[in-house]
Amino acid sequence: MLKINEIFFSIQGESSWVGYPTVFVRTTACHLRCTYCDTKYSYYEGQKMCLEEIISKIKSYGTRYVCLTGGEPLLQKEIFPLIKNLCDMNFLVSIETSGSLLCDQVDSRAKLILDVKTPDSGAADTFNLENLKWASSSTEFKFVLGSEKDFNWSETFCRQHDLFKNFLVLYSPSFEIISPKWLAEKILSVNSPARLQLQLHKYIWSSDQRGV
Ligand code: SF4
Repeated sequence: MLKINEIFFSIQGESSWVGYPTVFVRTTACHLRCTYCDTKYSYYEGQKMCLEEIISKIKSYGTRYVCLTGGEPLLQKEIFPLIKNLCDMNFLVSIETSGSLLCDQVDSRAKLILDVKTPDSGAADTFNLENLKWASSSTEFKFVLGSEKDFNWSETFCRQHDLFKNFLVLYSPSFEIISPKWLAEKILSVNSPARLQLQLHKYIWSSDQRGV
């Protein structure tokens, strides 16, 4: 059984799979407390579901993209068989994790999105460097930046660990804290190989413009 906060269908707002219709499975509980956390409701709320129930709900949306997120999805051990089962069924699976817990049991067919916490998150230095061993060519490293200090810290982290050479590195402006323009200029000013990423879902769902 896994304690699940919510399962919902939306547009992937981040990663190289941005824009794809995706089923999100949000697990309950997180051991971190990031300053900008927008999913505090996932810390405790949720209901126990068995793997069959979760998979059946995922299938009901009719898309191949599944994102396991939290909370911290790796806190519950039954996440690993869920990932394996979904990969066996040819779903395209991504896992959003802070990288503070070991990823060694994550099925290698799934895409790891390692959300490395920066100083402004209040959880810097929680990333477990052992996870660099489990990163593959499909792994993506994400940094949510709230200040110049965060930017400089992330550049140093990526260069110290050779992330730019080996992986896709995504820099996102912390929503409504720094502007995309500010971050774009910073990236260009140091010729950083990072890719600017906007958290697309926040722009879509905060918009009050009527669609046509
Ligand atoms: S890791 Fe994610 S869920 Fe946990 S506190 Fe940070 S932002 Fe919130």
